[in-house]
This record gives sequence, C-alpha cells and structure tokens, in this order.
Amino acid sequence: MSETEALRALMQADRWIDRVASQRNHLPEKTELATLEAELRALLKALQEAQSDIEPIQRAYEDAAAEAQRLRKRENDLATTLATSTANARELGAIHTELDHVRELLGASEDRELEYLLALEPLEEVVAALRARAQPDVARRGELQARIAELEVSLDEELASLREGRRDCASALLPELLARYDAALVRAGTSGAAEVDAGRCDGCRIALSPLDVDRWKAQPSGTFLPCPECGRLLLP
Ligand SMILES: [Zn+2]
Repeated sequence: MSETEALRALMQADRWIDRVASQRNHLPEKTELATLEAELRALLKALQEAQSDIEPIQRAYEDAAAEAQRLRKRENDLATTLATSTANARELGAIHTELDHVRELLGASEDRELEYLLALEPLEEVVAALRARAQPDVARRGELQARIAELEVSLDEELASLREGRRDCASALLPELLARYDAALVRAGTSGAAEVDAGRCDGCRIALSPLDVDRWKAQPSGTFLPCPECGRLLLP
C-alpha cells in the first residue's frame, strides 16, 4: 500500500468514526425524549396544583361526613330511647327537644357534605384528565429510553470496531506522517487529511487559490501539502 493510499484509508476511517459518533450524539429519539420529559414535567406540576386544590376540600368533606355520621347515630339512639322509654312526660319532652335539635344539625351537616362533594367533582375530573394525558407519555418515555439504550450499545460496538480498524490504518503510516496527520486532526477535527474536489478542500469546503491548486498538483509524491485554511493534509 502506498503512503497516499494508507493516508486515504486513515482519513476514511476517521470520517466513519466521526459520522457514527455524531449519529450516537444526535439520536432523534433523544430529542423526542427531551420534549416528552418537558411535557411530563409540566403535567406533573399541573397535577400537583390540582391535587393541592383538592386537599382542603377533601378534608372538609371528610369532617362533614364524620359529623353527619355521628349525628345520625345520636338520632338513632334518641329514637330508640323514645320508643322504649318508660320515663315521665318531662323527660320525654327533653328527649324530643334534643332529637329535633340533632335532626336540624344533621340536615345542615348533610347539606355541607353534599356541597363539598359537588365542589370536589370538577377538580377530580381535572386530575383524572391530567393523569389520562400523562399515561401515554409515560409509556412512550419507557419505549424511548429502551430504544436509546439499545441504539447506544449497538453504536458503541460499531465505534469500537471502527477504532480497531483505524489503529490498523494508523500503524501502516510512517511515524512522521502519522504525527502530521494527527496534529491536523486535533486542530481541524473529523479527519487530518482531505481530498481536493473541484478546487475545494473537501474537509473545510474552502476553495483553494489557483496558486495553491498549482502547488498541490505539483507536490512531490509523499509531501502532502496542508490546506491553507484548515491544515488538513491534501491528498493527491
Ligand atoms: Zn481545508
């Protein structure tokens, strides 16, 4: 293999590595996941707000329900006492009075119970609607996370194999030329060499001056003139 061919193979290996690494860093699934997670955060916030609206009403409803239950039991006890009582008229009169009072309180308590229950309904509908909206997002998030993990494993394997191939390409070059290539790679990124395509360096896409094109055409074999713009070694 000539030095030019070895250099070209190394350039192609680095370009492949760059392409796959960039694919790994820009998975469309990751963009979708980020959008989805932002949506889920907004839904969670709305859900927390709706639930904090519900809590005081829920507590008031429970208090009213407990009070109504207590009064119903008292009403029942008093009614039983009346039915089975052998007490005198004055005592019976007192029980009647208390029973009337308890029934009045019970009515008010049941009204409150119903009022809170009616206030809870629309809020609970809001929570249910938010939950229903979040559910498919949560499922999709799980799918995306699994898909990303799968793709990353597969791309990492591909990268490892490409890097192994790159080592073989690099070891085929003379140390001095490899050092120049690597220096250009560090400076320019992607690859340390480029081809000239229609008068342009295909690494940085800048047009070479006619003088540079002449110098590039006339370069002795194995010299590899650097691109004046990006510094990549220009292949003949
Ligand atoms: Zn260039």
